[in-house]
Amino acid sequence: MEIQDSPQRLTILGATGSIGTNTLDLVGRMPDRFAVDALTANGNAKDLARLARLHGARLAVAADPEAYGDLKSALSGSGIEAAAGPEALVEAALRPVDRIMAAIVGAAGLAPTLAAAERGVTVLLANKECLVTAGSLFMETARRGGATVLPVDSEHSAIFQALDPAQKASVERVTLTASGGPFRTWTMERIAAAGPEEAVRHPNWSMGAKVSVDSATLMNKGLELIEAHHLFDIEAERLDVLVHPESIVHGFVAYRDGSVVAQLAEPDMRTPIAYSLAWPQRIPAPTTRLDLSALGKLTFEKPDFARFPALALALRALESGGGMTTVLNAANEIAVESFLAKQIGFPDIAKIVENAIERLTVERVGEPTSLAEALDLDRWARDVARAAIPGRLERAG
Ligand code: NAD
Ligand code: MG
Repeated sequence: MEIQDSPQRLTILGATGSIGTNTLDLVGRMPDRFAVDALTANGNAKDLARLARLHGARLAVAADPEAYGDLKSALSGSGIEAAAGPEALVEAALRPVDRIMAAIVGAAGLAPTLAAAERGVTVLLANKECLVTAGSLFMETARRGGATVLPVDSEHSAIFQALDPAQKASVERVTLTASGGPFRTWTMERIAAAGPEEAVRHPNWSMGAKVSVDSATLMNKGLELIEAHHLFDIEAERLDVLVHPESIVHGFVAYRDGSVVAQLAEPDMRTPIAYSLAWPQRIPAPTTRLDLSALGKLTFEKPDFARFPALALALRALESGGGMTTVLNAANEIAVESFLAKQIGFPDIAKIVENAIERLTVERVGEPTSLAEALDLDRWARDVARAAIPGRLERAG
């Protein structure tokens, strides 16, 4: 029998997003086990206030200072405190809670997630960009702060479940699977003409727009290799990607005796989220149960670097190390934003990222050792990426 006296206090950064709402879905089913402390969002005051009321949060924070008025009025009479702006976001991350779900999208999540790690709370990490931007800094800060970092990304949750830390010396390879995204079977020409609507239509997962585009370019898998490198302290040479269109096997670890330990589940983020919420225990998740006989077979194939050059770029950044992954991430964020705004074509995403990492100069190659350094390099790369967006000036006018 599980013993728990009082509900665990939980803060969710990025509560209105795909991961945030899936987390709230689970938490809302277990009011005896979890109590919501702070919820944050970017600018979506109406949704944020609705979720804060529904889940009895104590504090709601909008990262965008302009959303304060709307948030305050949407919360009036509820007793829930409202705050806005980047400092308020960091303060929300510093409140004393048991666990904090880091589910902001992009490097925007770095400052508050790093603050939480420094404070020593248990961090449920969905925000992979934070590890790609400043992985060593983040993991070192967590170690010093005494924070436990639990992966939320499905592949990393799988590896976390399959990788026995006591047997780390016996690990030969760690493999992350990739669905292959919506363009897995498309020709290069057809991919080149794809627009945002097609890129966000993921075959297996329902996710936010940015991570959906990253799944279409396979940059997502590249970011995940970098994420795995930092989370599990595994060098690039022992990390692999395998395309697995059914998204049932999420990742596996191969040991030197020939054993391969994998984690399988239906593609539903509530499974890895539930795992991170309850670890080292397990809580029920209302997901479809895996029925292997109904599936009949599972298929696997090698990734195609020619049609998906973003994956190769991410590997190059991982192998080069230093600040290259910071630049890769920032340039990719700008490129994806521009693609979603229909300012560039699908193949331009990888081109903009490649241009940015090639512009890295000697002064800029070092890995960021502080938040300020990470943000400075991130800003530099965003400027380089923006400057490479074709027709940018005409459109701005
Ligand atoms: P999303 O776009 O659905 O939600 C993002 C959340 O972050 C929202 O609450 C939004 O208000 C907030 N936000 C956006 N910009 C912000 C800013 N500048 N400052 C503060 N808050 C901001 O994203 P998502 O799909 O939930 O993904 C969140 C993170 O989880 C990403 O890092 C993604 O790679 C990772 N992830 C997502 C999935 C998934 O299934 N969605 C799976 C694995 C990993
Ligand atoms: Mg993933």
